[in-house]
Amino acid sequence: MVLDISDIKRGMYWIKRGAKDSAGVADGLVYILKRINGNLWLNIEGGNQQILLSEQDIRFGTRVYLTCECGKKANKLYLTPEGKKYKCRGCVSWPYQSTSLNRHSKHGKMLYNTNQMIRLSRIRSKIKRLFHNGQFTHRFRRYLGLCERAGFMSEVNEANKLLTAVNT
Ligand SMILES: [Zn+2]
Repeated sequence: MVLDISDIKRGMYWIKRGAKDSAGVADGLVYILKRINGNLWLNIEGGNQQILLSEQDIRFGTRVYLTCECGKKANKLYLTPEGKKYKCRGCVSWPYQSTSLNRHSKHGKMLYNTNQMIRLSRIRSKIKRLFHNGQFTHRFRRYLGLCERAGFMSEVNEANKLLTAVNT
């Protein structure tokens, strides 16, 4: 379920020594490493996914990262609930934020809004105090700012009503 960069160590051993391709086993599946036009790609058995390996030069050699479809470099990629692709933590927990989503389509916009709402309600659930000395607490004010930016004005209006009530 998790693809760890250390899982492909064996294959990388040969790549680092100049091999054009190599293979090994990761997450119970056979993988193949292949260098194409200078870029290193990871292919997993039975999968239709090609994962780009980002190579970064460090002082003593090269560090390799798994590259998610969103462009993020990570040490670990996770199999999505649909079990089709490995993606970074961010893309797995917030699939609707992935770059594949067209925010301007009707469907995309709806999914994006839903996702924002879930995210905001999570933030909201962690805020225990709304007021301090007759004012919004710093955290609550920040939360309202996010609501406003996301276009959830009813939340902001309700809070303002509460604030007025608290002060009268
Ligand atoms: Zn990602």
